[in-house]
Amino acid sequence: MARYTESSCRICRREGDKLFLKGERCFTEKCAFDRRGYPPGQHGQKRPRVKDYGIQLREKQKVKRTYGLMEKQFKSLFRKAERLKGVTGETLMILLERRLDNVIYRAGFAMSRNQARQLVNHGHFRVNGNKVDIPSFLVKSGDVIAAKEKSMSLVPIKSAVEAGREIPEWLKVDPAKIQAEVISMPTRDMIKMPVQEQLIVEFFSR
Ligand code: SF4
Repeated sequence: MARYTESSCRICRREGDKLFLKGERCFTEKCAFDRRGYPPGQHGQKRPRVKDYGIQLREKQKVKRTYGLMEKQFKSLFRKAERLKGVTGETLMILLERRLDNVIYRAGFAMSRNQARQLVNHGHFRVNGNKVDIPSFLVKSGDVIAAKEKSMSLVPIKSAVEAGREIPEWLKVDPAKIQAEVISMPTRDMIKMPVQEQLIVEFFSR
């Protein structure tokens, strides 16, 4: 499976925002973006000359990399959002939020989306009692996501639960059981991310 090979912190610095890709480290003073919040590379500290295309591209890259998708997956999710009812940009954000790896991260069962993806790939979680090892699986209202009994004591899961995280209002989490219920579909205003999704729509509409 294709994946990013660039350092996570370089990605944050490139996108000009903290994308929280490294779990616990992102909340400490070791965060590279907090220490050097300018783009990486020889010319990183020069004032950039950004045009419309550049602004749209950066917004698209920022969202794609936050959720850890490759270009092809991101584009196909965007096309799916276009086909669905509603405002395309908002629908895209909701589809991203409904991915199983993201739900596990949001529920506080993993320190980062990368870690959540790995846990799903290794089959540590069930949806409505069935093993699902596809990170892109889209949850729906009423779904119950839970760690397999044998996986409940895994160090990454335990550490994430102990660290605690603010749980979005569309999830009901039982940390003792490592279980989360989707009580409603997320809406755009429930997704606390400073993203101008309209720029992504403009990028793909060029
Ligand atoms: Fe980004 Fe900072 Fe986390 Fe590195 S430590 S991934 S720069 S938020």
